[in-house]
Amino acid sequence: MRAELEAKLSCCRDLPSPPGVALRILALARDPDVVMATAADTIGLDPALTARMLRIANSPLYASRRRIENLSQALTLLGLNATLTLALGFTLASGMRSRQHGDEQHEEKIWRRSVIAALASRLLGERTGQRRLEELMLAGLLQDIGVLGLLQLDRKGYGALLADSPDNAVLRERELQKFGSDHAEVGHWMARHWNLPPLLQDAIRVSESPAPLESPFDACVAVSGYLADLWMQEDADAARLRALEAARLHLSLDVAAVDGVIEQMGQMLPEIATMFEVRITQPRRIAALLQEARELLVLRNLREIQDAARARKDADEFEHRAQRLAEEARRDPLTGVYNRTQLESVLEKEFETSSRHGWPLSIAFVDLDDFKKINDGWGHLVGDQVLRSFASTLQQHLRSSDIVARYGGEEFLIVLPGTDERAALGVMRRILAEVGQAPMTRVEGRPLHVTFSAGLATHGALEQFAHVDQLLQAADEALYGAKREGRNRVVAGLVED
Ligand code: GH3
Ligand code: MG
Ligand code: MG
Repeated sequence: MRAELEAKLSCCRDLPSPPGVALRILALARDPDVVMATAADTIGLDPALTARMLRIANSPLYASRRRIENLSQALTLLGLNATLTLALGFTLASGMRSRQHGDEQHEEKIWRRSVIAALASRLLGERTGQRRLEELMLAGLLQDIGVLGLLQLDRKGYGALLADSPDNAVLRERELQKFGSDHAEVGHWMARHWNLPPLLQDAIRVSESPAPLESPFDACVAVSGYLADLWMQEDADAARLRALEAARLHLSLDVAAVDGVIEQMGQMLPEIATMFEVRITQPRRIAALLQEARELLVLRNLREIQDAARARKDADEFEHRAQRLAEEARRDPLTGVYNRTQLESVLEKEFETSSRHGWPLSIAFVDLDDFKKINDGWGHLVGDQVLRSFASTLQQHLRSSDIVARYGGEEFLIVLPGTDERAALGVMRRILAEVGQAPMTRVEGRPLHVTFSAGLATHGALEQFAHVDQLLQAADEALYGAKREGRNRVVAGLVED
């Protein structure tokens, strides 16, 4: 603070000062040996103060089920420290109003803002889980004593400045220009002078801080002023936005939390105003503003839910498509059975598993007999239909753990994991019989039958292959054996009938 201003403040005889009761209460608050009875005696000397203490003890701030009827009950409910702090607030608020002519209007306004800020500060403390709620209230109440001090120091000049500053931010800027200090600094000087507890002194000093405050106590006090401005300023919408910003900056509170505090303030202010003898009416705009904010919140939640649902659906669809594409990439487009690429990877894995565990693995090369004749005789489309029916017939007569793949043209490969030579031969013969029975399609009203030749090879007890290609080759050779022997049969390399 500028030395010049400090000198002026020191010399100013009319600076607001705590009344006698407040000084006594301050002394009690500093005395570690003070007992409830002494506090009750001191407060009891002032009937108006006593009435206020009972009133606040019965107010919604202290949701007690029991009605508090005398000072000692109030003290028990509130505790010694809270009682002294509240009493100090009341005595300072009522005792420091100067009776000077012409200032009533300013002073009334300053105290009105202070009382609203006191409640806001306390509610913010509650919301952020703090314990020193009475001190918060008192600090909220006293944060603007600097304004009273400056007014006393320079009635005309500062009075004019107060009158035409539209909000606290503008007022503060003008104070800095005119005095080189803002009212927070002046208030801090006064608080130190009065020997107020250091917690209060500090909170007043940083109450206008534009930078984020570390102490949650100081932060509540700083934000409380912005909340009070909702009641003080013409433009409640703009004041709410500034309060939201301050609450986010200093306390990381979100919009819903701040609106919750504004709503509580609206409910409790009539009671608090009466206790502190100030007239406070709630601007109608505040209720409308909260209503709008609630609707906005509902809309936003709704939109968020919808967005989340849409995102989930999109992700599901994407996943589905990716799965479908991957599956399609594995399949032969004409018949729907595995294609050769997929066959190779599956077969390699089966071969490896079989070798590792010593399980048998049989494979069969299957080739349709004289298929060229079908194409030549009936056309490729009929040929295609036969291939499709044949593939599905193969699948129908195999286990789900067996694998059917189109190796190329009219040649298929069947993989039978865990199946030895004899069992595989049985399976293939059964299929040969089934295919012989069932027409693959109808042409010109007549059933069209096909036969196939199959060559079997087994990786197992009788013969071990070093590599999967050798197994394939053995099956291929067996297939040629089947063709040579006259088609429409199954030949297994090592097993005799
Ligand atoms: P074999 O009994 O010796 O196996 O005689 P084949 O006529 O079945 O054998 P070949 O290899 O001589 O003829 C196979 C025919 O299969 C030739 C080819 O046009 C036909 N083909 C291959 N792929 C397809 C296809 O996708 N659709 C149709 N319709 N025909 C195909
Ligand atoms: Mg053929
Ligand atoms: Mg062929």
